[in-house]
Amino acid sequence: MTPQIDELLEYTSELRESLEDMCYQFGGWNEKIGGLTTNGLSALEGAFSALRWDDPHPMPSMCCDEPGCKKQKCCGTPTLGGYRNTCGEHRPKEQADDK
Ligand SMILES: [Zn+2]
Repeated sequence: MTPQIDELLEYTSELRESLEDMCYQFGGWNEKIGGLTTNGLSALEGAFSALRWDDPHPMPSMCCDEPGCKKQKCCGTPTLGGYRNTCGEHRPKEQADDK
């Protein structure tokens, strides 16, 4: 490829990554589908559109590990079977009792 095309692809990738970061940071969470939403913010609507994302945008990697739960994961717990990421509702009881 020509240097101009390489440069354009690198720039496009950088833009995409920045838009995704903005959506992760400022997007809301939709518990019905388990994904990010714009919550009607026009700046995020523009970003979702540029990323070709539906609103809401499914994010299975950000969902609670509890089967069937679509809440956003927020707690990490090491277990014998590996690291488990859950929502506040499904975090282990002893961790929930910590202050
Ligand atoms: Zn959960």
